[in-house]
Amino acid sequence: MTRVKGRPPRPEPAGLFHWTCHHGAKGILLDGVVRPNLGLSWWTDLGSRTAQTRRATVLTSNHITCDRMVHKFTAAEPDLIFRWRDWVRVMQPDPQWVTVLESNGAPDHWWVADQPVAVRLL
Ligand SMILES: [Zn+2]
Repeated sequence: MTRVKGRPPRPEPAGLFHWTCHHGAKGILLDGVVRPNLGLSWWTDLGSRTAQTRRATVLTSNHITCDRMVHKFTAAEPDLIFRWRDWVRVMQPDPQWVTVLESNGAPDHWWVADQPVAVRLL
């Protein structure tokens, strides 16, 4: 369990991944950083390119017509990423917004970051 002041506690995952389309990957490949979009970047602990991951991470789509699983980035700074449920509990965003978001996908596999996170460029 890692604790950062003013942030939710963070259990250690095996790995945290940012799935994205070609558009999303362009900026990340430039400087190796995933930046928040509208306040958050979205991550998951699901690292296999499967239908389950696709369903679970529905929220990571920024372009509805794109294949959001073309690129997978692995967080090099996982300490900056928080479990969605913990983030909601501590940050207390609009409950209606949370309900709408959680009506799709698998929120237990969602992780978020509110600051830029470096990724491993393989
Ligand atoms: Zn796209």
